[in-house]
Amino acid sequence: MLPIFYSDDFLDHNTGVYHPEKPGRLTAITTALKTAPWADQLDWRSPTPIDAQNDRLMAALEAIHPQPYIAAVQQLAHRGGGYIDPDTIVSPRSYDVALLAVSAWLDGVDQALATGEPAFVLARPPGHHALPQRGMGFCIFANAAIAAHYALQQPGVNRVAILDWDVHHGNGTQRSPKTMLKWLTAHCTSSPFILALVQLKNRALTTIFSIYRCVGAAL
Ligand SMILES: [Zn+2]
Repeated sequence: MLPIFYSDDFLDHNTGVYHPEKPGRLTAITTALKTAPWADQLDWRSPTPIDAQNDRLMAALEAIHPQPYIAAVQQLAHRGGGYIDPDTIVSPRSYDVALLAVSAWLDGVDQALATGEPAFVLARPPGHHALPQRGMGFCIFANAAIAAHYALQQPGVNRVAILDWDVHHGNGTQRSPKTMLKWLTAHCTSSPFILALVQLKNRALTTIFSIYRCVGAAL
């Protein structure tokens, strides 16, 4: 059985019907998984509620994000929401939902370390573009960096690999101060200029190894 950490609460991060990162992303996945021929091999689990583990959750979050940024997101949500950047929206419930997403990632780490078997976290908002001091690219918190750093704090964990697959490279994970990690980022571009620019930026960083594929190529 494959554990899947998921909550319908993740649908309450309201980015609007025309936003690419909308609740329908997850409902499409959950529908596909629940109707798959191997659906009985999936073990659906709820993430640990955010108020049941505040110290653990906030410690993991504050290891990557400065407290003033976290508080600013919370205040923005409680004021009714707004934009962090032109494509990153905070809705009234987004702060709590983003915390629950981080909780799910931590649960996934705990599960995988406890069993030595894979765990799958199906959460939103996503989390590989968020910079430590500013969300961006649909991402409020840097879930991948937070989970990787959290894993590194656990007994017996000396290294973490991140396989990052998106149309862009994971700049938020790259910029997180405590994730001196070896990671592989696979992203797509059809622009030679952008490809050259990203390669130039990454050349200075010994912890980055990137694979590039043009749009339409099979990974
Ligand atoms: Zn992206």
